[in-house]
Amino acid sequence: MRVLTLNCGSSSIKFQLRNMDAGKVLASGLVSRIGEDESAIETTSGGHSRTRALDIPAHGRGLELIVESLLDEEYGALTDVSEVAAVGHRVVHGGSCFTTSTLLTNGVIAKIEELAHLAPLHNPPILQGIRESVRLLPRTPQVAVFDTAFHAHMPAKAHVYALPYRLYAQSAVRRYGFHGISFASVAQRTDRLLGGRLAESKVIIAHLGNGASITAVDGGVSVDTSMGLTPIEGLVMGTRPGDVDPGVVLFLMRDLGLSVEEVDHLLNKESGLEGLSGVSNDMREVEAGASAGDERCRLALEVYAYRVKKYIGAYAAALGGLDVLVFTAGVGENDPAIRAAICEDLEFLGVRLDPKANDGARGTEREIGATEAPVRVLVVPTDEEGFIAEQTVAVVASL
Ligand code: ADP
Repeated sequence: MRVLTLNCGSSSIKFQLRNMDAGKVLASGLVSRIGEDESAIETTSGGHSRTRALDIPAHGRGLELIVESLLDEEYGALTDVSEVAAVGHRVVHGGSCFTTSTLLTNGVIAKIEELAHLAPLHNPPILQGIRESVRLLPRTPQVAVFDTAFHAHMPAKAHVYALPYRLYAQSAVRRYGFHGISFASVAQRTDRLLGGRLAESKVIIAHLGNGASITAVDGGVSVDTSMGLTPIEGLVMGTRPGDVDPGVVLFLMRDLGLSVEEVDHLLNKESGLEGLSGVSNDMREVEAGASAGDERCRLALEVYAYRVKKYIGAYAAALGGLDVLVFTAGVGENDPAIRAAICEDLEFLGVRLDPKANDGARGTEREIGATEAPVRVLVVPTDEEGFIAEQTVAVVASL
């Protein structure tokens, strides 16, 4: 069975075609800078990679190019689109209505459309992708896999803000959490590494990518997570600040006269590593700046690691203990220095790294905790595409 996964961002589409029976990725790629000057499509298929700079004004054209590349006579992985048995879409926000992966019908698409106000940056491009995919593959079942679903069972004490209750009851203002596809994929893999003991374990998973969030997992269930109604809350990210006093927003608007759009841009695009360092949203560049003596880069790294450390402490308290700490995503998988800074002085919790193992873990699955330490510390690469594909197969099989 061949499954195509699509992950549409505001100006990009990540895709992967998998042969689920053989557990093999047949083709993958990225359409980038959609609607911008330097749009391009990168594809890898049959051991051959290529990048083409093309005019890609909208997601529809991007999807057409993906299908064309899959059908390419020389390097394509398909001879006919009908070979795609199902398409799985990453959908960022499922609100409270979608707590599991769901077959996309017109009714479901309309419901996701209604939720667009909860994720104004994320859901609209995804909806465009879904519509175009339905147009290009009209007879192929399409499935939505939600980033919020893994957090659907967070208890009320973790997901309700202490705001006037009517905002929760009438306007669905609550904490939802994101990166659920990544957390679910990492939790699944962690279960295997624990020999099937996730159900009895207290685990904290830190997804440290360009976006970043951290989740407390008790017995396999997300019981708290750092992102909230939107992905702004929580950890320091590439361009988002994570937790800030909401009074800062009032100050920006009332005293500095910023408009809603300006505050939105400031919180989503100008803050985090980028805003603190003034150098980049990319961890590698901030680290290079700090090594070269740039004080703001050094401060950015310190604030970043301190925030993750604070959440680990908070979640160990929320869980009433800690068995396993897991690092994943770009920074979490590849950056021994940040992992070391986060874990420094956490021995009182039972967290102690094996410096050599930590240093050797770069993009690979690895145990990085000291063998005699009470808490296991793992690096587990995330496989969001793999999880979307598995969920898609499960939904189609249940039809
Ligand atoms: P996204 O949220 O876009 O999926 P990723 O999970 O790919 O992001 O993570 C991107 C982040 O990972 C960037 O800040 C990048 O600098 C960081 N990163 C990637 N490789 C390394 C590395 N070798 N060392 C440190 N940071 C890295």
